Amino acid sequence: MTSTVPAPRFLRVALPTPLRRLFDYRPCREAPACGWRPGLRVKVPFGRRQLVGVVVECTEHSDLPAQQLKQVHACLDEAPLPADWWWLCQFTARYYQHPLGDTIAQALPVALRQGRPLQARQQERWIARQGDDAAPGRAPRQAELLAMLRQHPRGLMTPAITAQGYTRAQLEGLLAKRLVDRREEPVAAPAETSSTRLAEPSLPLTREQAGVLAELHEGLDRYHPCLLHGVTGSGKTEVYLQLIEAVLARGRQALVLVPEIGLTPQTLSRFRQRFQVPVVALHSGLTDLERLDAWDAARTGRAPIVIGTRSAVFTPLAMPGVIVIDEEHDGSFKQQEGLRYHARDLAIARAHRDGIPIVLGSATPSLETLAQARGGRYRHLRLTQRANRHAPARLEMVDLRGRPRQGGLIPPAIEGIRQALNAGGQVLVFINRRGFAPTLACHACGWLAECPHCDARMTLHRQPQELVCHHCDFHRALPDACPTCESGDLRPLGSGTERTEETLAALFPDTPVHRIDRDSTRRKQAFEEILREIRRGEPCLLVGTQMLAKGHHLPHVTLVVVVNADAGLYASDFRALEQSAQLLVQVAGRAGRAEHPGRVLIQTLHPDDPNLRLLADSGYEALAGQLLEERRLAGLPPFRHLALARFEAARETHVAEVAGNAAEALREWLAAQGSTVTCLGPVPAPMERRQNRYHMQLMLSDTRRSSLHRACAWLVQWLENHPDGRRVRASLDIDPQTLS
Ligand code: ADP
Ligand code: ZN
Ligand code: ZN
Repeated sequence: MTSTVPAPRFLRVALPTPLRRLFDYRPCREAPACGWRPGLRVKVPFGRRQLVGVVVECTEHSDLPAQQLKQVHACLDEAPLPADWWWLCQFTARYYQHPLGDTIAQALPVALRQGRPLQARQQERWIARQGDDAAPGRAPRQAELLAMLRQHPRGLMTPAITAQGYTRAQLEGLLAKRLVDRREEPVAAPAETSSTRLAEPSLPLTREQAGVLAELHEGLDRYHPCLLHGVTGSGKTEVYLQLIEAVLARGRQALVLVPEIGLTPQTLSRFRQRFQVPVVALHSGLTDLERLDAWDAARTGRAPIVIGTRSAVFTPLAMPGVIVIDEEHDGSFKQQEGLRYHARDLAIARAHRDGIPIVLGSATPSLETLAQARGGRYRHLRLTQRANRHAPARLEMVDLRGRPRQGGLIPPAIEGIRQALNAGGQVLVFINRRGFAPTLACHACGWLAECPHCDARMTLHRQPQELVCHHCDFHRALPDACPTCESGDLRPLGSGTERTEETLAALFPDTPVHRIDRDSTRRKQAFEEILREIRRGEPCLLVGTQMLAKGHHLPHVTLVVVVNADAGLYASDFRALEQSAQLLVQVAGRAGRAEHPGRVLIQTLHPDDPNLRLLADSGYEALAGQLLEERRLAGLPPFRHLALARFEAARETHVAEVAGNAAEALREWLAAQGSTVTCLGPVPAPMERRQNRYHMQLMLSDTRRSSLHRACAWLVQWLENHPDGRRVRASLDIDPQTLS
């Protein structure tokens, strides 16, 4: 298609700047083959820099005189970026009230953002011609090379060949003599080489699984949102695999999103072992070019299965067939800075637009999703039994009151650990605090080690020995004496993973103790190495933070001990209880996954807490039902929609003033509009001072999204136009996960 259409006078371009506006340019002389269209990347002059942007609109009008507008330097694409991707960027920018330019920048692989052509890297495969005994004459190295290639009927890649000491000249020599063929193919997801899709047979399903799969099959050709609510170990993954099999059989693609912590080599290998077809993974470990390759494989449809974490929701698909969100309740699906999007919510919007099914899987669904299922808007599919037929472990409360603690553990828990180890099991001790102790205290005057830059205590670490602020990463040496009273009686207060590890090592000197937290797994591979060791099945002790709670299959763990359940039960955030119930159930799900029945001991100062009792006696769904009722009464999500405006600045007075003015202006506007939106605040953030900056917030809520949306848009405009807006940094969080 050549451009018979005359070029537009102006191009309106989204650029990666924090500014909430588009920029007009004149098109360059050379139009792209497809003609000027939205979705094309262009390189443009911007101040003294050059930026890569995306054309949003082709127009005949600009607010600026044409001679003031600069010309686009070049168009970088032959065709617009994929339409499904483009739609999602626009939807995201609108829904989260985020600048389109920055949204695009986040939704695009770095290489494309930098202006590289949208092209996957190619590699060369060399294949010996079949049924040919011909030899390359008097060229002994070529003859050896040919013999090697003949042992590989599917051919070999250039790097594999040169690694054997052969040269490119020798390969070209064989090619010239027509003894080998050379094939170019993409590095990622080359075309299918086999006609069967399955590499290993699927498992015969349990009755429950078969029932669920049959219901999923009914909705393959339409928007069909489903909650797959299955206890840990009930075989949700097997259901995903067989559903994807049906989707592939229709020539469609599957997009699978997993939590950050869940994209492990085991997860990937489960998909790669089952299917013959290319499975591409999008995760933070990829280089920029690998990411571009994977994006291209998805865009062109070469990759029938795409697995990734949060940002993979922006992957374009040529033939979308299904979206699966595993552990849909997981907090990592929400980005907590800049563009604060929720990948699950965007995935729902995407599935709706594409008219495809979406499966949200979890043992502990978010209250949002559960409310949708209960309201009949999502289909509620259940797996109530573990595939191996063991009932999930029950939660047993252990009363912490008045008992001496060692590394956070009290005698009944230590006794339980001893029994489990003696019986040959592995024990998982869960403690949600890394470091040695939450802080250092002076026993003479009560001084506590506080961070000079935050309203927070500093954590005591032993490896290496220092105080660290977990909020701003400020490090300082341990004081020899109390800074207030000069007493030398400084003691660690409470326990973190390092201290519990040390205690367990002393109590059980003959049993290996593995600590798993962000500190111990900082080195790449470290986590995998520990997991491999654990899977060997020898009795051992695992001490870990929530890194261990999720997704990992630990078949030899027979006892789980939760050191302290109370922090989450009594935190102020409105989601704290939901999240700690999810965490407790997920941790408990680690026990007894294989043929060993399991026990779960929960240490608490409140063994009679009604929520904890409900969770232990009746399970997650019963507690969730009650929490939903409380949310309804309190006017909280999912019954009301929230937006949080956050303000921060180095000067406390600036934040208070600007947040106050913004709230006042907003309230006036709301009143004038007769809007139903309520506006609470401004109030100081739960941690008011963080890294020497002061934080305040304003909470907007309404039962209707549309009116909340209009109020947010107005506030954003106000902040943009008002001189106050520049004295503070303000940001908007639509559907906040936390109010901190
Ligand atoms: P979930 O994702 O619900 O936690 P998984 O899919 O990981 O559960 O399944 C837990 C275990 O049960 C796995 O080892 C899996 O291989 C096994 N499993 C699942 N479905 C079946 C089945 N139909 N027959 C036999 N084993 C199964
Ligand atoms: Zn003191
Ligand atoms: Zn700090």
